[in-house]
Amino acid sequence: MIKFYVLPIRCLRQLFIAAEAFMLHCIKHHRLKIVYFLHPISAALLLLVVGLYTWYELQFILPGMCNTSGSFYKINCFLAIYMLHNIVGNLFCCWRTDTSFLAVAKARQHPIASEAHLWHLCTHCQMLVPPRAWHCRLCNTCMLKRDHHCNISANCIGHTNQRYFIALLTHLTVGNLVVFIYNAVYVFMVRLPVFSDPLIFLTQFQGFDPVKYFESFKQNPNWIIINGAILKISIFSLVFVASQLGMQLYMVSRGSCMYFLQDRSYDLGFLNNWRLVLGKRMLWTFVSPFIRSPQPSDGTQWLVTRKPEELKKPA
Ligand SMILES: [Zn+2]
Ligand SMILES: [Zn+2]
Repeated sequence: MIKFYVLPIRCLRQLFIAAEAFMLHCIKHHRLKIVYFLHPISAALLLLVVGLYTWYELQFILPGMCNTSGSFYKINCFLAIYMLHNIVGNLFCCWRTDTSFLAVAKARQHPIASEAHLWHLCTHCQMLVPPRAWHCRLCNTCMLKRDHHCNISANCIGHTNQRYFIALLTHLTVGNLVVFIYNAVYVFMVRLPVFSDPLIFLTQFQGFDPVKYFESFKQNPNWIIINGAILKISIFSLVFVASQLGMQLYMVSRGSCMYFLQDRSYDLGFLNNWRLVLGKRMLWTFVSPFIRSPQPSDGTQWLVTRKPEELKKPA
């Protein structure tokens, strides 16, 4: 009897294979365009959406729900500053942290005699690299415990910057959840027709001052269309970032990474797996990206806890 979850998993796998083939094609033919245009555009788009959400909530939604001189509004202003600090800070640290094999100390770039058999040759870099390090065609070098290449942070997510990536996703998810809740409460309070067509508002554009523009809409019934549209957009963005975060939580808890999702050869147990990624200060890393949290491994030595399966080398 076929188990009910087999079909979706097979569909998902085929989807990943098709997406990977498409991405390889793009990387082969458009590498420079991706690095110099797509990456900055993606990062700018993320920051623009975060900024717009923050402005929209503080300028329009919260004043419609509470007194702007009250403590609830002030707490939300503080929350917005904390969220922006972590989102922008973690994105910056993720981008600036070099997780490549060449970033480790020169003395650690060669295997000790007892570990030489665990290292493998990268045919692109023409050198031996440690276990879990794989080549990235976009970064054009080998990455320590490579997870995936991130379009928004413009580099690979790997051993030394995964902490920032997870903190970034966590704050994006929590922030988006707060935005969704406030939007939903506001929509409920003023009984807006949530499913009104968001495209109608595009025909109503007047003037170039965004504050005046939104204020004029508050006097206009079409304001309800903007509220309904932003509520729907916030649902989509919440599902997107939450699914990415869920994937990371699942992988780190099992000691695996994106290309070897089922491989648990390096699973040290829940807490130790997280300590390897977040470092010694663990939860403090979610308070600020600028809190130092030394990792117990430099990314060249890995304790194998189970017999490694026959692994397919990632492209
Ligand atoms: Zn390489
Ligand atoms: Zn990369």
